[in-house]
Amino acid sequence: MINRICISINNRCNLACRYCHFREKGKIESSDMNVFEILDNVKAYAMKKFKIGFVGNGEGFLDWELLKSYIKYIEDNPFISAYTITNGTIRLPDDDIRFLEDHHINVGFSIDGNKELHDYYRCNSFDSAVSNVEYYKSITGHYPTFNATVGKESLENADKIIAFFSKYGTRVTFSRMIGKYGITLKQYRDFLAYAEKYIPVRRGGKDCTMYGGQCGAGTNNYFFANGKVYYCGNCIDLPPLGSSSMTFWELEKINLQFDRNYCYKETL
Ligand code: SF4
Ligand code: SF4
Repeated sequence: MINRICISINNRCNLACRYCHFREKGKIESSDMNVFEILDNVKAYAMKKFKIGFVGNGEGFLDWELLKSYIKYIEDNPFISAYTITNGTIRLPDDDIRFLEDHHINVGFSIDGNKELHDYYRCNSFDSAVSNVEYYKSITGHYPTFNATVGKESLENADKIIAFFSKYGTRVTFSRMIGKYGITLKQYRDFLAYAEKYIPVRRGGKDCTMYGGQCGAGTNNYFFANGKVYYCGNCIDLPPLGSSSMTFWELEKINLQFDRNYCYKETL
């Protein structure tokens, strides 16, 4: 049973983060994708809880009116919940933050930790992102959750990262950097075990080892981008499984077999 997907609603971003694998040649295309068709397929399929992440190849708030229209499109479905992740540099008007809050959309801010580290990874965007975290709180009354990528430099800054997130008290989803700037699964799991002694850390289920859980590739979650569907955002350089108009019953037939304690892509 598929119970979660991510949808990349655009292919553009105002940052150029050091580790962004979407920016590597050939991974971001500009082809149109009918997101309403994907949402129709979800509505036809979801008879139990189903989570949609509006997250992917770019910064969704750059195309806010589109994102808002997708959220409105699913608002009447009792099974579908949604979240989004922002790089924190786009300040939406108050009413739009309230719209997200009223629609129970969890907004995760991508901040990697202390200023020096974050600015090194994410184009000197720390001040803007932190300012918008406070702005978000001033409207909603609570801090957002955070998404932080863990690379080699993060391991060297573990205590500073923990001190930074301790101020907010909300959940942090750490994700392992893979590829040329990556760290090993063991290093990442050790980092998580240390961090969760001090701050609330999200531990994934069967979705992705990058979040501390098991790999969900080819079983319960998929990634839609570039008019196609992929196993996940990190598998975007593998051949796509088909067009984004594939139904979930067609995707259900894939059913990959491998040890899900490890990342499918890294087993190839
Ligand atoms: S904000 Fe996200 S999509 Fe944009 S460059 Fe950074 S990692 Fe890539
Ligand atoms: S293939 Fe790797 S990156 Fe993709 S969902 Fe599985 S663990 Fe995560």
